[in-house]
Amino acid sequence: MYQYQDARQRLAACEGAIADPKRERALTDLKDRVQAGLAAVKGLEQACLRLKRNNRQLEEECRVYEEQIRELETTLYSGKISVPKELAQLQRRIAEYQKAKADREEQIIDQLYQLESKEGDLAQAQEEGIKLQRQLEGALATETQRVESLRGRLQQIKAEISDLEQALSGELKEYYRRSAKALKGIVVAPVENGLCGFCHVILPPAVLEKVKRGGTGITVCENCGRGLFFQK
Ligand SMILES: [Zn+2]
Repeated sequence: MYQYQDARQRLAACEGAIADPKRERALTDLKDRVQAGLAAVKGLEQACLRLKRNNRQLEEECRVYEEQIRELETTLYSGKISVPKELAQLQRRIAEYQKAKADREEQIIDQLYQLESKEGDLAQAQEEGIKLQRQLEGALATETQRVESLRGRLQQIKAEISDLEQALSGELKEYYRRSAKALKGIVVAPVENGLCGFCHVILPPAVLEKVKRGGTGITVCENCGRGLFFQK
């Protein structure tokens, strides 16, 4: 009976260890961090792409302005235009285009700085992501191994329990079934130096005598209600 109870307790402990909420939470946290890392990488990649696209657009605009400036200058210096008002207008347009082009060039430089910084962030995020991914893979492998080994032990304990159960009398089985829940799985306790092995209360001689005699029926500790027995 004592062995049976012990095996039962080991079974419960083993089942508890398999479904360990703390470990589960740690794994979920790690998975969440991997997901967040991937999202960060994606966000930075998109930001870099956006900056590159913007710069290409600005470069194209610069090229167009340059062309227009060249055309206007050709006209200006061709000598064909002699009306001062028209000349002044041409010069004003050239100045406007030059200003527009310079503005875009400034934006390009500004965005190149931004791009450099974002690319640095991206490289860091990618590295961090790889590290987290590896960490997760390692944790998952460890967990799988742990659970597998526990399942193996669980099978062993179950086999042990079923063997022990066959050796138990119907009365004892019934007693265990009835008391296990109320007594939190510990339904029997050995007598140790005249004390109850569970609650350590001093057992009266009459009780000890009854336990020693054995026979049918279970003698329980009057204090904690555990069935008493002498360890062989
Ligand atoms: Zn007791």
